Formats: sequence, C-alpha cells, structure tokens
Amino acid sequence: MTRGSASVQGRTGSPDKGQGPSAAPRAPSSRKRGEGEDIAIVGGGIIGICVAAYLAEAGRRVTVFDRTGICEETSSGNAAAFAFSDVLPLAHKGMMKQLPKWLADPLGPLTIPPAYLPRLLPWLIRFWRAGAARHFEASLAAQAGMMKLAEAEWMGLLDRSGTRPMLRENGSLELYESEAEFRASLPGWKARERFGIAFRHVEGEEMASLQPGLAPRFVKGTLAPGWKTVADPKLLGKAVWAYAERLGARFEHARIDRVESGPDGAAIVLADGTRRKAGQLIVAAGAWSHLLARGLGDRIPLETERGYNTTLPVSAFDVKRQLIFSGHGFVITPLETGVRVGGAVELGGIERPPNFARSKAMLEKARRFLPGLDPSGGREWMGYRPSLPDSLPVIGRTRSPNIFYAFGHGHLGLTLSAVTARLIARLLAEGPAEALRPFDIQRFQ
Ligand SMILES: Cc1cc2nc3c(=O)[nH]c(=O)nc-3n(C[C@H](O)[C@H](O)[C@H](O)COP(=O)(O)OP(=O)(O)OC[C@H]3O[C@@H](n4cnc5c(N)ncnc54)[C@H](O)[C@@H]3O)c2cc1C
Repeated sequence: MTRGSASVQGRTGSPDKGQGPSAAPRAPSSRKRGEGEDIAIVGGGIIGICVAAYLAEAGRRVTVFDRTGICEETSSGNAAAFAFSDVLPLAHKGMMKQLPKWLADPLGPLTIPPAYLPRLLPWLIRFWRAGAARHFEASLAAQAGMMKLAEAEWMGLLDRSGTRPMLRENGSLELYESEAEFRASLPGWKARERFGIAFRHVEGEEMASLQPGLAPRFVKGTLAPGWKTVADPKLLGKAVWAYAERLGARFEHARIDRVESGPDGAAIVLADGTRRKAGQLIVAAGAWSHLLARGLGDRIPLETERGYNTTLPVSAFDVKRQLIFSGHGFVITPLETGVRVGGAVELGGIERPPNFARSKAMLEKARRFLPGLDPSGGREWMGYRPSLPDSLPVIGRTRSPNIFYAFGHGHLGLTLSAVTARLIARLLAEGPAEALRPFDIQRFQ
C-alpha cells in the first residue's frame, strides 16, 4: 500500500453529479505508478478514507497521504457508534449546568488541565456563546439536517463496499441514577423528537431485560432503537479503504509540512522537502487540520477533546447494546474485538502526554455499574476528537478554488464520515451550495 514516488499532478476527473447513495461505482481507473493523480487527500482517518472512496467511485484519481497509516489514530479506537440520533450540539444549557460539578472532579467527564486554560480560553468563550439559544438552534438545525442524510449515506457505502456485516442494529440504552437525572434529560429528548428521532423511556423489568446484570443504582433508562454500532471502527475503516483501493485509490506514507495553492491547482510539501502538485486537495487531517489551514491564511478555532478508553477482552461481560452513562460522560460498547469502556473529554491540546488515570477511573465506574464485569486484561487508548466550538464540522472550499476542508467532526466523525464524503464529492463536482453554508469557515472570520 505504501508508495514513495507517485506525483500528484493536476487533471480533471469525472464529476459526481446525480450519484445517489446506492449508485453503482464506476470501474476502477487503470493507473500506472507515476502517471499522476488529480486529487490529494491529507489524512487517512475515517473522514479522509470515506472521501477517497466516494471520489474513487466517481472515477477520480485519489491519493491519500498520512504520516501513520489508514485509520491508525482517532478513527481507530472510538466508541464505534453510528450515533444517528445524536443531533444536539454539545454547548447547550443542560450541559452548561453540569460544568461546575464535572470540572470539580479531576478524573470526571470533563477536565481542563490548568496550564492549558490560557490557550483554551478563546475557544471556551466561543463554545459558551454557541450555547446561547439563537446559536444553539442554528447548530441544532444544521446538525440534524446532516444527520438525516448520514444514515442513508452510510447504509449505501456499507452495501457498496461489502461491509454491511460489520453493522450492529441493536440501539443504545442511556441510563439514569435518579429521577432528577432522568428529568434533566427530558428537554434533550424533546428536542430530538422534533427531528423524528425514535426513543422509549424504560424502567423495571423491561430495562433489566435490555441489559441484564445492571447495578440497581439505575432507576430509569432510554432506549434509542435507531442508534447503531459497528463491529470495530478500525476494522471498518480498513475495510472501506480496501474498497477504495479496489477502485484505484492509493496511499502514500508521508508527513505533510504544508499545503499551498497555485494558479492551476494545489501543492503539498512533504516533511522531506518534496513538493507534489495536485489538481485538487482536501485537508482531512483531524485534530491537526488547523496547522495546515494556518499556512493558507485561515485561523480556525479547532481544539481537541481528548477521549480515553479501555478495551477489555470480549469475555469481560455480555453487553447487549451500547450503554450510555451521560452523567459520567462515558459509554460501554460491545465490539467484535472486545468490550470498550470509555469516553470523557479532556480539553488538553495535541501536545501533552496522555493521562491514563482517566481510563482507569471510567473502568472502575464500569465495574460498579455492571458488577459482573471482569476489568482485567484491558488495553488503554487515547484519541483526539477534532472539535469546533459550535459542534459543527468545517466542510467547504477555501479561498483557493482547488483546496477544500473536511474536518472538525468532534464526537461524531464516524457517524458523519459518509455524508461528509458525499458533500465533498458534490462540492468538487458542482461547486459551493447553499446547504453547506453552516459548515463554512466564514463563520469564524
Ligand atoms: C473516546 C472517543 C470516542 C468516540 N466515539 C465516537 C463514536 O462512537 N461515534 C462517532 O461518530 N465518533 C466518535 N468519536 C469521534 C471520532 O473518532 C472522530 O471524530 C473521528 O475519528 C475523526 O476522524 P478524522 O478522520 O477527522 O481524524 P483522524 O482519525 O484523527 O485522522 C486524521 C489523520 O490525519 C493524519 N495527519 C494529521 N496531520 C498530518 C500531517 N501533517 N501529515 C500527514 N498526516 C497527517 C493523522 O495521522 C490521522 O491519521 C470518538 C472519539 C473519541 C476520542
């Protein structure tokens, strides 16, 4: 898969006009090594590879550049949810009320390392403003609109790529420890109801049958049947990439120092100083995207919400569906490859080392919430959610007509990757559309 010498040369490819979610992909373009591609994608996470798959389906010549590999960073270890019912932007009144309690616990659902606070402050102020009613409603409408398309796009991509067997359609169960916690969740469920999202509040025997072995501390729950998970996000990412490769997409192992625009295309400069031309270029570099955008003159308030988890052996517990403990900021997901316990948010930037005491704290809670859980033999992990203050990604064209952004999907990158790919494929084929306005970088200028 790794190549060292292909040039990414400007060419025009076939447009993607009118290709619906289930449209048959075009035949793979027969390319010889060194012949040149027309599209370069920086970033081989789930966003970059879905974009690569959609563009390869449209007959475009695509090369993905990544310093690590395909789905080896944040997209490898996430909680595996297709969270199609998760339309609420993070900054909202209910969440703001929880902040003081959460921040008081250094290993709780949300932490800000004190030394990082001065750097974070401008982002926090924007986040706070995003929670104001007017802004919240606009973000909610944009996120719900995108979510409406997200499911159809993923189902289409799963079918076309032959990965549907990796889908698990057993919903999620959110759990509450008190009547007060349950009542506090109701406005959020009401907001989801407006967008046709199905759910059912449960208790007693029904709740126990949805997840046997729960600790009695949980008094109520909410089942969201439309919530789906995948067998393993890293395996799914690699399988989608294998599909893109079959359609002619290529991978190059390289760290990109900067991206540049030119009169008839774009260029990327590799860490070894090599310069490659590309007809069109897409920055999908997750939590590191703003570093590349800066070189193009765009200052984008991209932060990272670092998240932690522990993946236990499959035998650790018989988890029936994804269990969500919102009050504690973590979830438990049954995967084909293990039982994953994790979540939490640490607003600590991209440089400081991980603090795995956070994974351990969540695992200890999981043991109390599922008393039969065997906490031994786990593998700890940290990932960098690429997060913008209004919880919406950046999807759009830059000032340069040949450079595009697709990053900042925060907690929902897996869920929104196929629809992002559809939007980018359309943008490249048809130019900017009104529907993309909420995701434009102009909102930060
Ligand atoms: C604990 C946790 C749980 C989560 N759970 C879910 C979930 O259940 N459902 C969901 O939808 N989302 C979830 N997410 C969010 C989701 O994982 C992310 O939004 C998504 O993985 C982001 O994908 P990406 O492709 O943008 O970034 P990444 O996966 O980080 O990929 C970016 C790639 O760019 C490469 N790169 C960066 N800079 C350069 C450079 N200069 N040169 C070369 N390569 C570069 C990196 O090596 C990396 O491979 C979770 C996240 C965390 C941390």
